[in-house]
This record gives sequence, C-alpha cells and structure tokens, in this order.
Amino acid sequence: MSGSASRHDAVIVGGGIVGLLTSLMLRRRGFDVALVAGKDLTKAASWGNAGYLAAGFGSPIPSAESISQILKWMISGESPVKVSASFFFREILPGGWLAEYLRESRKTTSLEYALKMRESCFEGVRLLKKIIEEYNLQVDLRADGVLEVYLSRRNLEKHLKLLEQNRELKVDFRFLDREECLNDDPLLSPSIVGGILFKDDLSLTPSKLMQSLRLLLSQRLNVPLIDEEVVKMNVDNRVVSSVSLSNGSSIAGRQYVVCAGVHTKRLLSTIGIEIPLAPAYGYMVMTEPVSERLRHATAGGEFRVAMSQTGEGNLRATGFFELSTAQHLPHDRRCSFLRQKATEYIPAFSKVSIVETWHGARPCTPTGLPVVGWTKYNNLVVAAGHCRLGVTTAAATAKLVSENLLSEKRPI
Ligand SMILES: Cc1cc2nc3c(=O)[nH]c(=O)nc-3n(C[C@H](O)[C@H](O)[C@H](O)COP(=O)(O)OP(=O)(O)OC[C@H]3O[C@@H](n4cnc5c(N)ncnc54)[C@H](O)[C@@H]3O)c2cc1C
Repeated sequence: MSGSASRHDAVIVGGGIVGLLTSLMLRRRGFDVALVAGKDLTKAASWGNAGYLAAGFGSPIPSAESISQILKWMISGESPVKVSASFFFREILPGGWLAEYLRESRKTTSLEYALKMRESCFEGVRLLKKIIEEYNLQVDLRADGVLEVYLSRRNLEKHLKLLEQNRELKVDFRFLDREECLNDDPLLSPSIVGGILFKDDLSLTPSKLMQSLRLLLSQRLNVPLIDEEVVKMNVDNRVVSSVSLSNGSSIAGRQYVVCAGVHTKRLLSTIGIEIPLAPAYGYMVMTEPVSERLRHATAGGEFRVAMSQTGEGNLRATGFFELSTAQHLPHDRRCSFLRQKATEYIPAFSKVSIVETWHGARPCTPTGLPVVGWTKYNNLVVAAGHCRLGVTTAAATAKLVSENLLSEKRPI
C-alpha cells in the first residue's frame, strides 16, 4: 500500500497486543486508523506468552531484589531469572537499566506500587474480557482461575505467608491441599504438595487472541493492516509528518502511536527520544494435543513455569526471564529445560511430542511500569514497556491512549 496520498487520523506502529487493542479502541471511537503491524507477528511477545490475565497471580507482591540476588541469577543454572554477564556489566553502570532497577527498588517494592499495578491489571482484564465477549472472539478464554502448585512445602508456605502479609492487596486466593489438587486434576504430578488457586485470574491462548483481533480489525472494522515495518520516522520541527515503511512506501497520519514492544527503544531513539527498555526473553514449548483436560491454567511455583492448554488439547509451558544482550539465545537448551521443569508438575509434558517452540522479548522498564504518554513531538504518543503483564494490562493502556488522542489532553 502506498499511503503517502492519504492521511489517516491515527497511524499505529506495532501490531502486538498493545497496538491491536489501541487500534480497536480508536476505531470504535470513530478514528480512521491504519496499523503498521511489523513483518512477523509470531515474533511478537504477544504471540507466545503464557496468556494469563493475571489479576491476582501476577500482581506484584513487594520483594526486593538485591545486587547479590542478581549475581546469583547470573551464575545459577537452575534459576528461572537470568542475567547475562554482558548485560550486567553494560547496564550496571550509572544510568544503565540495572542501576535504575536497583535505584527504584524501594519504590517498586512498596505497597502503594503494588496497589497501583493491581488496579491497572483489574481494569485491563475487565476491558479485554468485555471485548472478547462482545465480538465472540474464539481465544480459549477460561475464567476458572490460575492454580499455582508447589513441589516443596517450604516454598508453598512461603508464598502463602506473603499473601497473608499483603492482605491489603485483596488477592482472592484459596489454599488447596495435595488431595484437593490431585482429585481436581489428574494431569498433576503426585509429587505436588499443594497449591494456591487465584480465583480472579483468567487465561487464553495468546496466538488466537492476536489472530482474532487482526481479523476483527481488518475484516469487520475496515482498519488497514500493513504487515511492514516502519524504517524511518519523518519529523518536521516538533511534528511527525509521516513514516517510511520497509516496502518503500510511506504513510501519514494526524497523530501517531508507537507501541512496537521492545523495538520501541531503537525506533524512537532515531528521533531523539530515549526510553529505558530492556528485552527480558522468555521461552515457550507446546506439545501435540492430549485427550485429558487440564482443570485450570497451572503455574509451577518453584520454577515460575506457566502452563495451560489450548482448546484443541495442546499443553503449553512458558518460562524464563532472561536479561541479555545476546544476538543468539540458547533457544534449544532453554526449551528442553523448560519442558523438563513443566514435566515435574505435569508429567504429560514428557509423554507426548513437542510441536512448537518459541522465544520472545518482554519489553521491560526498570520500574516494571509501562511508558505511556505524549512525547516532545506534538502528535506522537508512546505506549510500551508492559513487561510481564502486557496481555493483562494492554486494554487499560489502549483505553487511556484512545481517550487522550481524542481529547488531545496532555500529559497522559
Ligand atoms: C514467555 C512470556 C510469557 C508472558 N506471559 C504473560 C502473561 O501470562 N500475561 C501477561 O499479561 N503478559 C505476559 N507476558 C508479557 C506480554 O507478552 C508482553 O508484555 C506484551 O505482549 C507486550 O506487547 P506489545 O504489544 O507491547 O509488544 P509485542 O507483542 O512485542 O509487539 C510489538 C510489535 O511491534 C512490531 N514492530 C517492531 N518494530 C516495528 C517497526 N519498526 N514497525 C512496525 N512494527 C514494529 C513487532 O513486529 C511486534 O508485532 C509474557 C511474555 C513472555 C515473553
């Protein structure tokens, strides 16, 4: 498409969950929107994530990570959190991502912060659920909670204690003993000692969410969906005038929203905007379908492995939070370790073949809070950095952005 002739009300850059929902909300408010989605939707974090709409399970419970903890993550083979040496030495310097992360840790481990995050999780889940129901999107939505199971009594008790200590967060959870877990779900390993059911949480299959939102936008709401990349942002004084695309064309809008996940940093730095984003890589393995049904989306507490099942019966497991500068990640090694860990909680993971593996980058700021707001360009908004809760909170961000573009209120 050569878009240089037409000028849309809004051009959205990035077709992950944030871009898709922002396009949807703007379209519903009558905007003429064009979405430049990127070249390969399967590489987006929104494609292969765990798909938990984590209102309770994902809510941050204050816990400070120290420099010694980060060093432990660097050397431990078993840790689900990894920090590469090159990332550490580059980002620990003043102004670096890790330095900021440590500097902000007092704020990000406060109750006030946790309550704020929880509020946007609830708002995001409420809005996304409404959209899924309204348009009857077939995304394997389940509203029966997330069950976090443990292999060690000590770890289970530790988490229960944390939840008790943070009653103000009003997380709706129920303790299930070993028998209750196993009676409830025959797919679980007999080694499980018990679990915590987070009743408010929902789950879905993220690739189906992306595909159905794309179809909704392009076929039912007539939003041009351009599977190209923005290679250049053309600016004129304090205004973005157009964006140049990888197919040689360009497209112009009255307003622009950049929500290109982890790539937002690079794209915006070309026009003098610096945002502190780092990629935190995660991995996914998916088995062929099994006939038994997993009773709940199930997280393995010790290794933070998030498991679920598609409507067709495929078991999925995601895990790892890997801060790295590497060009080539140890994809196969991480995926087989992930499968091994998933098997400890759900033995069926090793009994059937793996049909898909994946890795992708969570776009993370040092505070874990997304960067959503107007920039120094009068018609440019940024919405990125949703880190590990992007599916949960994207609809809340999309609402905020669409309301602000409409009224042109500033700042967000
Ligand atoms: C393993 C894993 C598990 C996770 N589990 C959960 C979970 O259970 N619940 C939850 O809420 N969150 C989860 N997350 C986090 C969530 O996936 C992300 O926060 C969210 O998907 C980020 O969405 P996004 O739209 O900002 O970025 P992305 O999904 O990465 O999308 C960015 C898009 O921008 C496009 N793009 C890039 N550059 C350009 C360009 N120059 N021009 C045009 N387009 C461009 C890309 O192609 C891509 O499509 C998980 C993440 C991972 C990796």
